This record gives sequence, C-alpha cells and structure tokens, in this order.
Amino acid sequence: MHYNPLYRLLTMPLAGALCAAAAVLATAPAAAQTDKVLNLYTARHYQTDEALYTGFTRKTGIKVNRIEAGEDALLERVRSEGRNSPADIFITVDAGRLWRAEQLDLFQPLDSPVLNARIPAQLRTPAGTWFGFSTRARVIAYNRKTVRPEEVATYEDLAHPRLKGRLCIRASNHVYNLSLMASMIERLGEAKAEEWARGVVANLARSPRGGDTDQLLGVGAGECDVAVVNTYYYVRLMKSVRPQDRQLIERVAVSFPNQASSGTHVNVSGAGMLRAAPNPVAARLFLEYLASDEAQIHFADGNNEWPVVSSAVARNPELASLGKFKAEAFNIGVLGRNQALAQKILDRVGWK
Ligand code: FE
Repeated sequence: MHYNPLYRLLTMPLAGALCAAAAVLATAPAAAQTDKVLNLYTARHYQTDEALYTGFTRKTGIKVNRIEAGEDALLERVRSEGRNSPADIFITVDAGRLWRAEQLDLFQPLDSPVLNARIPAQLRTPAGTWFGFSTRARVIAYNRKTVRPEEVATYEDLAHPRLKGRLCIRASNHVYNLSLMASMIERLGEAKAEEWARGVVANLARSPRGGDTDQLLGVGAGECDVAVVNTYYYVRLMKSVRPQDRQLIERVAVSFPNQASSGTHVNVSGAGMLRAAPNPVAARLFLEYLASDEAQIHFADGNNEWPVVSSAVARNPELASLGKFKAEAFNIGVLGRNQALAQKILDRVGWK
C-alpha cells in the first residue's frame, strides 16, 4: 500500500486524529491528484451502474475498479482483509447490513458538507459512517379479487385472524424481515412487537421459502392472498414483457401500510468509506458524486428505487405509478440497533 496520511490517523488517539484529520482534509485538493483509482466492493450488479462509473471517471479522471459479490461475502472479505484491504468503498442494500459493517468497525466516519446537505438526516448515520443513496419500501402485496385494500392497510393487519392461512413471507433470518421487525419494535415496543410476530406466524399459508419474488408468485398462483415484498420486486414485474408477469401484476396490487399513522417501512441502498481505504480522497469524491442529481437517477433506477435527493427525478414511469406515500420518520440507524432483538423475538415465536 502506498503512503497514505489518513492511514496513519488510524493509529492515533481520537482527539489527535480528529485535529490531524482536519489538516489532511484541508489539503484534500493536493492529495486528490495522488488518488488515480477507486476500489469499490459492491453487491450491486445492474447495467445502469456502468453509467455511474463512467460518469464519475469522466468528471474526476479517477478510474473505478470494482469487485462484485454477494453482500455477506463482501462483508466477510473486508473484515478478513483488515488493514490491508484494497477496498475504498462498500456498497450494499438494507440498513441492517450497513449496520453490521458498522458494528465490525469497517467504516471510516466522513464529515462531508455535500452529503450532509443533500441526503436527508434520517437516511444517514449522524457519525457519517454510511449514507443511504436510494430508498425502497416494504409493502403488502395482495390478491385484488380476494382481499379488500382496507384489510391490508397496516402492518398490524398482517397479524389479524382474518388472514389465517393466507400470508406468504420469506424467512425470518433475512435482513429485510429483520429490519421490518426492528421497525415494529421501535414503534410498538418489544412485547407488542412479539405479539404481532406471533400473529404473523399463525397466519402463514406455507413455511417461509424463497425470495420476495417467490412471495409475489405465491399470490399470483393463489397459494396465498397476501405477501410482504420490497417495492422494486413488484416494479421489476411491472416492467417485464413476459405474459405471465403481466398477468400477475393484473391480479396482484400493493398496499403502502400505515399511511394514516406511522408511515410505511422504508429501507435504503447505501455505501460508506472503509476504515483502511487506500484512496480516501477518491472515496469521498465518489460518495459525493453518488449524491449528485445525475448519479442519483442512475443509482436509484438501477434497482427501481427512489432517489434520496429530492431534486433528482427518476424517469421511471412504473415506479412513479406507485404514487407518493408517507414513509416512517425515524433515523434509519434504528433498524440496525434493533436487529439483534428482532432476531431473538422471531426465533422465540417460531418464524422459520
Ligand atoms: Fe432485494
């Protein structure tokens, strides 16, 4: 690894490191000339992300090297590489996973006026360890013929006895459900959240299996009447040209839960600068670039998500057709903090 002034900071006591960090950042423009590359670990594999990298290189002259793998594999790789990791940036989905990376002390806090101004405060950590760049909602999909929208207007409805034997949802150990459960704990408290989870388990149409698309297919096939899915899975089917997908969308609608109360559970795709980043200036520039209007559109569109920067308007008519909705208001970091308790409760209630 070439000499890197920020690397030395890691070995200093905190107060000294902060002062020195300020000095290093003040000289950032000079240092920028030494960062010719950016090493990216990403779990994203969308065609549209290509446009992001070429856009960044065009703007800065910095070449982007990327390693693509599954989220958990990448996390493990950064962890085991430790201080010798070549990675500057880690990109993944779900606040639960970003939080895990943070717990492993993999991220380097970044105080960027650009990111602080452009990304809403509830979609990044106060310490600047990671930032949300696009949002997805966890919604209720339902059979238009057998379910009335008012029967699935809230997450609480998922535990109602009228849905007994009619609900499809993926396994409890998946981070999307852990984050949903974390949100329920935050809103209802541990005891009520547990009662809710018991009700959900009692309503299952089948033992949890497959991903979110499989839950949608379950509703389409009549195996269940109601499912819980992230919005982009539904939008992906809306965009599909396959006749069976078109038919499924005709049969299955989505409800944005809790519009009259706490708002719908929202999560992010996000990224942060890694602790051992050999190219910290490039890393900062890249994260700031992701918050630009141009990049926001590509980043969000890549997975049919919403840009977090309000001035970036994605040209995604299918996504836009889902309409505007009220999202839950607490800081996204809460989803990480409640993760362990969420898993404990889901194990307790026998949600497989
Ligand atoms: Fe997903």
